[in-house]
Amino acid sequence: LLSATGLQKSFGANRVLDGVDLEVRRGDVLVLIGPSGSGKTTVLRCLNGLETPDAGVVAFDGGPSVDFARKVAKSDRAALRDRSAMVFQHHNLFPHLTVIQNVIEGPVQAHGVPKAEAVANAERLLARVGLAEKRDAYPAELSGGQQQRVGIVRALALQPDLLLFDEPTSALDPELVGEVLTVLRELANEGWTMVIVTHELGFAREVADEVLFFDDGVIVERGAPATLFTRPEKERTRRFLDRLL
Ligand code: ATP
Repeated sequence: LLSATGLQKSFGANRVLDGVDLEVRRGDVLVLIGPSGSGKTTVLRCLNGLETPDAGVVAFDGGPSVDFARKVAKSDRAALRDRSAMVFQHHNLFPHLTVIQNVIEGPVQAHGVPKAEAVANAERLLARVGLAEKRDAYPAELSGGQQQRVGIVRALALQPDLLLFDEPTSALDPELVGEVLTVLRELANEGWTMVIVTHELGFAREVADEVLFFDDGVIVERGAPATLFTRPEKERTRRFLDRLL
């Protein structure tokens, strides 16, 4: 579905990505793990054009294929953004809009979906994550876990080919993490293509087709979770896992 090659990104003198290559096949779940500051979030943001790499190519099957070493056309950037939807650490819902208004905003404003159709779709998606009765609530009236589930529904409503999750549970109280992971698990089982940055290693092990371990702006090691978590090849991976498992 997607390949990224040679991604490089510096902020001033801070080299955050130093040649990252990855591939996402349709239906796969990729999980990015690694210490804080290793560049995981920056990779996600590069994949959907929220961040502009200094160099590297991001190419989706069927387009766009964007070479960031050259000047990027606005239309390419927009096309890149259209292929994926991002779920953030903090839900980023509009506080002055109700749940249903939050969910239909993207489809109606950005994609020109007729409002009635967007509402019907949103209601179906909200029901799927157990939030049908919250359609007219405001974000502040929801728990953190419910807000995050609405954030996920908002991403799904855009009907992207690829879902990007940036530490979707790390801002939640521990007792609310489970309900969000359950939704992610269901999406994985339904065949959604997902790239997930997370510190939930147990979850990663369960849902990932491939795990990428980042350190210092490079992918140090990658592999199937059963292998990477139990028999990591690199010392750096081992040390990271030892600290967390
Ligand atoms: P975390 O788990 O803490 O989110 P991460 O692996 O996702 O870490 P990134 O968020 O990608 O790491 O950040 C990598 C580095 O890039 C950090 O040193 C961060 O301070 C720096 N950085 C990220 N965004 C910016 C920015 N907009 N301006 C300057 N520096 C940035």
